[in-house]
Amino acid sequence: MYLRSLELQGFKSFPDKIKLHFDKGLTAVVGPNGSGKSNIGDAVRWVLGEQSTKTLRGNKMEDVIFSGTKTRKAMGFAAVTLEISNEAGELGEAYGAVVSVTRKLYRSGDSEYRINGKNVRLKDVTELFMDTGMGRDGYAIIGQGRIAEIVSAKSADRRDIFEEAAGVSKFRYKKQEAQRKLDAAQENLVRLQDIVSELE
Ligand code: ATP
Repeated sequence: MYLRSLELQGFKSFPDKIKLHFDKGLTAVVGPNGSGKSNIGDAVRWVLGEQSTKTLRGNKMEDVIFSGTKTRKAMGFAAVTLEISNEAGELGEAYGAVVSVTRKLYRSGDSEYRINGKNVRLKDVTELFMDTGMGRDGYAIIGQGRIAEIVSAKSADRRDIFEEAAGVSKFRYKKQEAQRKLDAAQENLVRLQDIVSELE
């Protein structure tokens, strides 16, 4: 599994549609200060479902939309598409050899997520990458200051990182989901019993 390409439009300092192609192995992004290197990392985090504006180095989610320059009008939306090679089927064979994930946000606040062009929920994107190490909470992108944060983290938080790496967190998540459904079913049963005893 590796990143094949990243397409940005209206995202932070990239108003025009651009597509970056990555090969297997190491890719270095170089450029002068303020030229948008970190914005590329932000775009990868964002398309994977990042909800923290602080992590995205902004104050509100709208800050990811190109805000204009002296010579160029602001954009009305930001869109990012990430293509991931899935030849070995790590993301599930049903998705095919290349999986694309898209996130789009309009200034109105409307947003959409797509997997292989099909509209999905944020939850679907989160589940797709869970335990692959690539999700928004994964360790595939290590931002500035993150190493120090991991070293000084509370042991419970550090354990979460190891669990994600070991592939345990997906099962913990599924267990919580199942427990929620069981609780809801239990509540429904109690309600039904009340109705039955009222009718008797
Ligand atoms: P450094 O090497 O200093 O860390 P960098 O190459 O990583 O810099 P970035 O932090 O990626 O640079 O980009 C910063 C630039 O992005 C700034 O010029 C900032 O004005 C611009 N920028 C950020 N958000 C937006 C936005 N919403 N609209 C337009 N420009 C933006």
